[in-house]
Amino acid sequence: GAKAGGKANYIVFDTALREKAEARLRIEHELRGAIAREEFALEYQPIISLETGKLEGVEALVRWNHPVRGLVGPDEFIPIAEETELIGLIGNWVLNEACRQMAEWRHALAATAPPNMHVKVSRRQLLQPNLAAIVQDNLARHSILPASLHLELAESMIMQERETSIARIRALKSLGIKIDIDDFGTGYSSLSCLNEFPIDVLKIDRKFVASINRSQNFGALLHAIVSLAANLNLEVVAEGIEDFDQLTLIQALGCEYGQGFLFSKPLPADQLEAFARELHPAEFMAVDAWCPAA
Ligand code: C2E
Ligand code: MG
Ligand code: MG
Repeated sequence: GAKAGGKANYIVFDTALREKAEARLRIEHELRGAIAREEFALEYQPIISLETGKLEGVEALVRWNHPVRGLVGPDEFIPIAEETELIGLIGNWVLNEACRQMAEWRHALAATAPPNMHVKVSRRQLLQPNLAAIVQDNLARHSILPASLHLELAESMIMQERETSIARIRALKSLGIKIDIDDFGTGYSSLSCLNEFPIDVLKIDRKFVASINRSQNFGALLHAIVSLAANLNLEVVAEGIEDFDQLTLIQALGCEYGQGFLFSKPLPADQLEAFARELHPAEFMAVDAWCPAA
């Protein structure tokens, strides 16, 4: 009867929940070891100027070099790390490694070095009172020009605890670094709030780009975001550009920067070097050649 069925469902649910909790605990436990052994690696995804075709910079994306499972993506462990103090430890490693790599590229690549480094910061990291001090240490240790470091904050995370977020962002900005709002358009911010946060760049979530050639509404939304950003003196990066159709439409909207598989997937440092050396700006900029409408 209904009663027995309800009980069976409850047991299934309970087992699934327990397995999930156990998996989480196992990953959390393994992460502690991974941090001690520094089993992490960064990959770098190019960000391209849609006006000049040149490299604007790279976004650093963390991977876990798991001894058994191989390269594990951030979606599998960052959310778990974010529930504990582990995200602070991983975040510090990422920040140091990104700055170290930047300094190395400046020497090795000179004029072709990526001008800017974009590093993601989690909510818990932003709320910790010493983030600005940690960033300042890294800038000094690796002699990084502050304005070439961008910290990416998710839109949804700064809208909670607004006052603290604004204070933390101000402290970071006073170092001379730049602040990006990541995955813009997925959170619940009212647009007017953009004015309150001292930010520099909007990174438009890739779901807008993915839908741009499927629905006119998304084109209209993107257009509105790009004009809004221009009025607020913010730079705009469109994320997730995968094909030339999307690039054409996004360029036509006047979006300044782009990132996505069309240009390159995230690359290990040595491959990023090759990409930077071999990049021909004309590759992505010969608008007339591949866009009959332009
Ligand atoms: P995100 O910051 O939005 O990073 C962009 C993600 O989109 C990357 O996935 C990238 O590989 C993927 N991507 C880039 N271009 C395209 C495209 O054209 N099409 C599609 N379908 N995907 C594209 P990844 O590396 O798996 O990172 C996932 C998320 O994990 C990141 O999203 C970010 O929120 C988080 N993450 C990565 N590294 C770090 C880190 O060092 N710290 C923190 N806190 N979070 C990180
Ligand atoms: Mg990002
Ligand atoms: Mg993003």
